Amino acid sequence: RHAGLQPYFEAHELLKKFYHHLLVNTKDGQEALEYLLARGFTRESIDTFQIGYALDSWDFVTEFLQKRGFKAEEMEKAGLIIKREKDGTYFDRFRNRIMFPLFDQNGKAIAFSGRALGKEDVKYLNSPETPIFNKGKILYNFHLAKPVIRRQHHAILFEGFADAIAAYRAGVENGIATMGTSLTQDHISLIRRNAQSVTICYDSDNAGIEAAFRAAGMLAEAGIEIRVALMPDGLDPDDYIRKYGPEKFRNDILGASLTLMSFKFHYYRRGKNLQNEGDRLSYIEKIVSEISGLEKAVEKDHYLRQLAAEFSLSLEALKQQMAADAPKKG
Ligand code: ATP
Ligand code: MN
Ligand code: MN
Ligand code: MN
Repeated sequence: RHAGLQPYFEAHELLKKFYHHLLVNTKDGQEALEYLLARGFTRESIDTFQIGYALDSWDFVTEFLQKRGFKAEEMEKAGLIIKREKDGTYFDRFRNRIMFPLFDQNGKAIAFSGRALGKEDVKYLNSPETPIFNKGKILYNFHLAKPVIRRQHHAILFEGFADAIAAYRAGVENGIATMGTSLTQDHISLIRRNAQSVTICYDSDNAGIEAAFRAAGMLAEAGIEIRVALMPDGLDPDDYIRKYGPEKFRNDILGASLTLMSFKFHYYRRGKNLQNEGDRLSYIEKIVSEISGLEKAVEKDHYLRQLAAEFSLSLEALKQQMAADAPKKG
């Protein structure tokens, strides 16, 4: 059925192997390998995720593919080479980058993400959308994580695939990540078919917390139970694991993840000074309105009491506020 797509898969399979070989066995790959090891990647994880290295060359891949009989036009559509406008010749898309193959659900390589070795302007360069790659449908590590996710009915969602790899090294094998895009409905249905609950473990910087808030809303909307794990000091999971170790990550971060409502408490108070009366009142109003959206009476009661206790308010007053709120929302 996919006869026409066969060369696309084959080229990725071949390059995946060759990039990996360059990284682990050659002098050309040495600097990249040292970079990875210094970042905490282990040889085992480099093999598991088939990480590789693309040479610092404009035509290595172009010639490599040509020699093996692949058509240049197809390889351009595959996102592996790029056509020069002026003379119609081709050059390699990925040069001097650490290559992370992206896999489909069956573990076939269908695209790459290439990381710059240093602090270049484009940190990660992804394959473009191609006949075999749609990044809105791909979750990094899903092919390895799927059986674990199904067994545990639970997935951990990361913002960066480097975090999913770091988590894997830390013994967390149900981790998946989007490819630098926000969550799509395709991602959500893929997750929902395999898990009942998700722990969102995005970077704890501002961008990450905003993205976690949006992802949480979308997943909850789809009926998936949400928890949110936060790290201190704006760290991302990979940073945290390197700094504090796997055990602290599993126990103090994943094990201490927040319920969706507790995360919202945290989310709405960021940047507010609750000593300030105006900030305090607008925060309380926001939270009361979130609580009124909860389905279970027991949960409503629980969080109202928590709020009442924190701000020395009467439960009665909060209930009245909630009742006054309700008609406004229709
Ligand atoms: P690293 O630890 O290697 O710096 P990271 O995983 O912490 O990377 P973030 O900067 O937190 O990366 O970005 C999260 C994700 O967003 C990445 O995994 C990648 O998929 C995507 N991304 C980041 N920067 C870029 C970029 N310049 N172009 C395309 N995608 C990017
Ligand atoms: Mn980030
Ligand atoms: Mn990050
Ligand atoms: Mn990182």
